[in-house]
Amino acid sequence: MKRVYNFSAGPSVLPEPVLKKAAEEMLCYNNSGMSVMEMSHRSKDYESIIFGAEKLLRELLGIPENYKVLFLQGGASSQFSMVPLNLIGKSGKADYVITGQWAKKAAEEAARYGTVNVVASSADKVFNYIPKLSADKFDKDAAYFHITSNNTIYGTRYTKLPETGDVPLVSDMSSCILSEVADISRFGLIYAGAQKNMGPAGVTIVIVREDLLGNALDITPTMFKYDIHAKNDSLYNTPPTYSIYMVGLVLKWLKDLGGIAAMQQINEKKAKLLYDYLDSSKMFSGTVEKQDRSVMNIPFVANSDALNAEFIAQATAAGFENLKGHRTVGGMRASIYNAMPIEGVSALVDFMKDFERKNG
Ligand SMILES: *Cc1c(COP(=O)(O)O)cnc(C)c1O
Repeated sequence: MKRVYNFSAGPSVLPEPVLKKAAEEMLCYNNSGMSVMEMSHRSKDYESIIFGAEKLLRELLGIPENYKVLFLQGGASSQFSMVPLNLIGKSGKADYVITGQWAKKAAEEAARYGTVNVVASSADKVFNYIPKLSADKFDKDAAYFHITSNNTIYGTRYTKLPETGDVPLVSDMSSCILSEVADISRFGLIYAGAQKNMGPAGVTIVIVREDLLGNALDITPTMFKYDIHAKNDSLYNTPPTYSIYMVGLVLKWLKDLGGIAAMQQINEKKAKLLYDYLDSSKMFSGTVEKQDRSVMNIPFVANSDALNAEFIAQATAAGFENLKGHRTVGGMRASIYNAMPIEGVSALVDFMKDFERKNG
């Protein structure tokens, strides 16, 4: 059986050693006589899996002591509600920057529970840039300030965080967590669905500063309260046990590789390979303003719709899968998360060069 180069935006490629390890342990985990999937979440074996994953995450990201790590269900999309339900109560207001469809959805959800101040938006150019933020648009009384660090669909990312003073910065890091060194202490809360850069779908990780807990709106369902999950070490009810186990394996893989700083260097090399070619090509070009280019998701187009379609067809036949761009952008998008090996990007660039030679 041949594995393809999978450029899917999510769920996405996982490190091959992780899949092999999971396969090895599928029938019997650590002499337990059962699969992790069959295990009580209250068992000693499982406790070591979930607490081990948290410990590794804390170590890799340098998460300070005064932050809680939560393993939740419901995807990043549930966080669009959980964030306002738990945090907006302080003043009833929150700041949002609209840099794509996910940010827009997050803001719309927050508007159900309070007043949303849209600080800036890049909707005017199909979100192909990060808008300049002027501090006089910030609300000093906002309960929090929400950004999407990396815009999965449009391929932009913040290279500099907004200075929000005492207003806690909240970020959706679904498609960039673990891809580059980050200073967690700059944030009040970070959330990320696992299926882009951390593991399979099913678990969403929340990293939240302790002093922000305990202010949930009265209407907040128990299962949507951060403090309930924090008090119960993410074991208030059955957590997504197997997904958390897989995240633990991915974190171990990342640590063995040298940690996030080492991963960041590899990621920058991968992105440079593709961007350098896009900038030199006469057929293909990137769709995003250069200074805001994502290192994880790279949208690009050929000179015509016909060439886009032909390229996707030929690339798929050659083992480069899921390169079709989002319908709102068209063209192609290569998602090159941590688990995409540099060989995959280099093979894609060679294939594109060849395609340009034959069809240019
Ligand atoms: C994929 C994604 C989401 C949605 O995640 P779900 O887990 O499907 O709810 C939200 N935000 C960003 C930045 C994403 O990439």
